[in-house]
Amino acid sequence: MTIVEVLTEIGKRGLMRPFSYLYDGKQPIGPRFRVIVPFGGREIMGFVTGVRQTGFSKEELESQLGHELRFVSSVIDREPLLGDELMELAKRVSDYYMSPLVTVLQAMLPKSLSPRRSSLKAPKIAYEKWVRTAKEEVPSLTPRQRECLRLVSRNGEVRKKEAGTPSVVKTLVDKGYLREFSRERPRFHIPEAEREQAHEPTVDQQKAIEEILSSGKKTVLLQGVTGSGKTEVYLRLSEHFLREGKNVLMLVPEISLTPVMVEYFSRRFGSIIAILHSGLTPAEKYDEYRRIKRGEARIVVGARSAVFAPLGNIGLIVIDEEHVDSYKQDTPPYYHAREVAKMRSEISGAKVVLGSATPSLETKARAVKGVYGFAELKRRISSQGLPSTTIVDMREKSSRGSEKHIFSAELIAKIREKLSRHEQIILLLNRRGYSSFITCESCGYIFDCPNCGGHLTYHREDGMLKCHHCDFLMDFPARCPECGSASLARVGFGTERVMKEIGVLFPDAKAERLDSDSGKVAKAASGITRRFHDHGFDILVGTQMIAKGHDFPDVTLVGDVLADIGLGLPSYRSSERTFNLIAQAVGRAGRAEKRGEAIIQTYNPNHYAIVFGARQDYEGFFGREMLSRRSYGYPPYRNLITLTFLSEKEEKAAEFAADFREMALKQGFADVEIVGPGTPFLAFFAGRYRRTLLFKFKKSEDLRRFLYSETQRLSGKSGVEIEIEVDPLDS
Ligand code: ADP
Ligand code: ZN
Ligand code: ZN
Repeated sequence: MTIVEVLTEIGKRGLMRPFSYLYDGKQPIGPRFRVIVPFGGREIMGFVTGVRQTGFSKEELESQLGHELRFVSSVIDREPLLGDELMELAKRVSDYYMSPLVTVLQAMLPKSLSPRRSSLKAPKIAYEKWVRTAKEEVPSLTPRQRECLRLVSRNGEVRKKEAGTPSVVKTLVDKGYLREFSRERPRFHIPEAEREQAHEPTVDQQKAIEEILSSGKKTVLLQGVTGSGKTEVYLRLSEHFLREGKNVLMLVPEISLTPVMVEYFSRRFGSIIAILHSGLTPAEKYDEYRRIKRGEARIVVGARSAVFAPLGNIGLIVIDEEHVDSYKQDTPPYYHAREVAKMRSEISGAKVVLGSATPSLETKARAVKGVYGFAELKRRISSQGLPSTTIVDMREKSSRGSEKHIFSAELIAKIREKLSRHEQIILLLNRRGYSSFITCESCGYIFDCPNCGGHLTYHREDGMLKCHHCDFLMDFPARCPECGSASLARVGFGTERVMKEIGVLFPDAKAERLDSDSGKVAKAASGITRRFHDHGFDILVGTQMIAKGHDFPDVTLVGDVLADIGLGLPSYRSSERTFNLIAQAVGRAGRAEKRGEAIIQTYNPNHYAIVFGARQDYEGFFGREMLSRRSYGYPPYRNLITLTFLSEKEEKAAEFAADFREMALKQGFADVEIVGPGTPFLAFFAGRYRRTLLFKFKKSEDLRRFLYSETQRLSGKSGVEIEIEVDPLDS
């Protein structure tokens, strides 16, 4: 009998060791193959970690081991999907993030990548399911079903997988509210693009390229103001490494930015490019994955998880807009693509280039200290300088132009001026929905989320109250549950409200909105940006989604409607985020021939994040923020690890956290500060209460070892689960 050691897909800390199974199948099996095994009452996926031939029968083995052995149900892979390099990488990621290996393997190989054997043989024409509305909604539907119906009717035809959670959509189809139909899915292929004639690099670009290539450091920061031509540097560097026979990994912060980058690369290099992101179907992803593995693609472009692409012989890893938070996965193993890229570079020898106009403080500090190499692009390519900016103090009554104080007199005047010249405008407001909360005018009751306690936001487009912290949702109430009054006030404002105000103030202007509500349907999001690019409308209103990456040549005015939104959030990075958002948004204006302008509206006109952001003064901000990080003991001066204690019983979570703190204090670690137990913003979610402990430390292998072994030992005991997050961005 063959014994197979299997690491199951259940990433609980208590179940991290491999389990033994028997195998008597014909298909080849070996380490790193994925298998389906029975576990408890169900069938789950597992990774084979070892295979051992024995001369014993099932019964003999069972009596030796003292427990029953079950058989592997089936083998998924025909060859192991992970090579040696990726396996080594998985181990390092697992060590650094103190996360079970299987959790890391799952992050590397999304579960959707485990195709049923049938999908491998599927015909090359792919169909996908779409839905359209077929029947009017009725009050007896659940809020989530109504939300889904309203989304579909707003968008006409929607891909089934974008319409809502599968169970909700299925119920609506079964009950006849939605009609399902198939449509041929255009298989992804990169157009045999007109091979573009490369730009002649500017003197600055040439210098940056040389600096990066000649730097003795494996990791180099490329700091270049918005519009300075960083992409051309990435392309030239890629050319260099391809010529040396090496391959290139190009990461962008979000899926929505992959097409733009793919276009740049395919125009320059043709069809040697592969794309990896969650927008592909499982079969496509599997195809693409194997194409990369076979060495048919030399360049991989993708979002965060593409850092795990099975690309061999890597010479260059580029992380564009390295400061963006989406490079960190916000679920276990909580890895950051930048750190993983560095680990990959240690294994493969690849050069890592971190590009940004506003580098994260961690990266900049390392470049300043000489840990990373440094290259800089100080000027924009176009002859236009950076936009001129004005800060408008919204506390002054005289500034307020519109009745509800959304737009200042200055902003209104500028919008009018730009519209009359037929130029385009971006209005940024980093809050979606119509109003930020709802309160009863008679008794002051505020509608809060019953799950997590945050305020519920009113969304006018589907008439619902939604929680932006968890996924709670309800219909807009008719009356106050406390006093029965029907006069409910909508307080504060979001992007939907900005749209309405534009309609009132500038009835002739054409405006569209792009945020994670309107952009939920991928087709809608790319349509909006394309139309705006082609000057199909005048004003683009949106959240941070619009501040990144896109190049709109006719935009000459950017208005930040309320720059303060992020400042109040409980995170050590709130100033950095506020600064970045302003600097990125301002950088959207005046990228081509016309000079840009920006107006920043704020109630904190003297806050350094806003002042430096408006000036696009990164160095000024960096110096000021480093002082604050040092005095409060945050990165890059200190490292952070958060433990989260989760339990169905609130006292249990609190007690466990307090005990853990005492135990840690007794160890007498030098130079380790423990904050908490604290209650996180999402204090109760999915049936479990949470408490946290934050560890701040300079360098402490002892502490890391202690946290690892103790969480390993204690997690799952007395109904309390412990999660570890290394380098949390919010705390
Ligand atoms: P960044 O990413 O630094 O914000 P981009 O890479 O988007 O800047 O470049 C800004 C613009 O400058 C793009 O339209 C690009 O085509 C153009 N550009 C870049 N390099 C050159 C060059 N060497 N000569 C002419 N135009 C260039
Ligand atoms: Zn009331
Ligand atoms: Zn909530």
